[in-house]
Amino acid sequence: MRWAIISDIHANLQALEAVLRKADSVGWDRMICLGDVVGYGAEPNECVELVSARCEATVMGNHDAAVLGLADTSRFSVAAGEVARWTAGRLSARNRRYLRDLPYSMEFDSFEIVHSTPEDPPAWHYLLSEFDAAALYDSFEADMLFYGHTHAACAFRRSHEGGVSRLEPQSFSPAAGSRYIINAGSVGQPRDGDPRASFVLLDTRERRVEFYREQYDIEQAQRRIIDAGLPRILATRLSHGS
Ligand code: ZN
Repeated sequence: MRWAIISDIHANLQALEAVLRKADSVGWDRMICLGDVVGYGAEPNECVELVSARCEATVMGNHDAAVLGLADTSRFSVAAGEVARWTAGRLSARNRRYLRDLPYSMEFDSFEIVHSTPEDPPAWHYLLSEFDAAALYDSFEADMLFYGHTHAACAFRRSHEGGVSRLEPQSFSPAAGSRYIINAGSVGQPRDGDPRASFVLLDTRERRVEFYREQYDIEQAQRRIIDAGLPRILATRLSHGS
């Protein structure tokens, strides 16, 4: 089974379309989304519709929750708060219902998914370091957990001796007896210094985790943000992946 795993689309339709094209070209059986379908970008309805059509499961992200009035936005940047309000005013009733029904976490046969962290998803903690990761291995059962939220593709491995190490976002074959926490990076607003759209493919038969980065039409996404009257910083940061 080949699972395409996408995250943090953030209403960037150009990035989402590029990722879907790439995923289609390398082949996948099932697709899932780790949340934050909306927020920051200018095409929330188009992105929710595409995600709901392609992904058999999606979990709730903090920006999805914020747009629905379900998350505290006091820690949001001024720009993020502005876009959350702008998005809330534009989402169709159908797309609002889709987001409202999203669960905070899900379990599949060989892995679990969450947007933020597994011990308390709606607290929206950031899992950034091996120290953060080490504290979370008791909060899920499977050998693999996929998450998003930080917009930085990476992975953490806990060996059967118990040591936790951070892995670069490079394709790998999971070692027997180890457990992994894997960040799929962000489709629509990468913040790890690489502006290309990120996603991950899990091949359970070949036992491979593959990281992908895909070029997309950044200028077009930036034009949409500026034309919508959204804060300019949200357009410029796409060029830098920051
Ligand atoms: Zn996000």
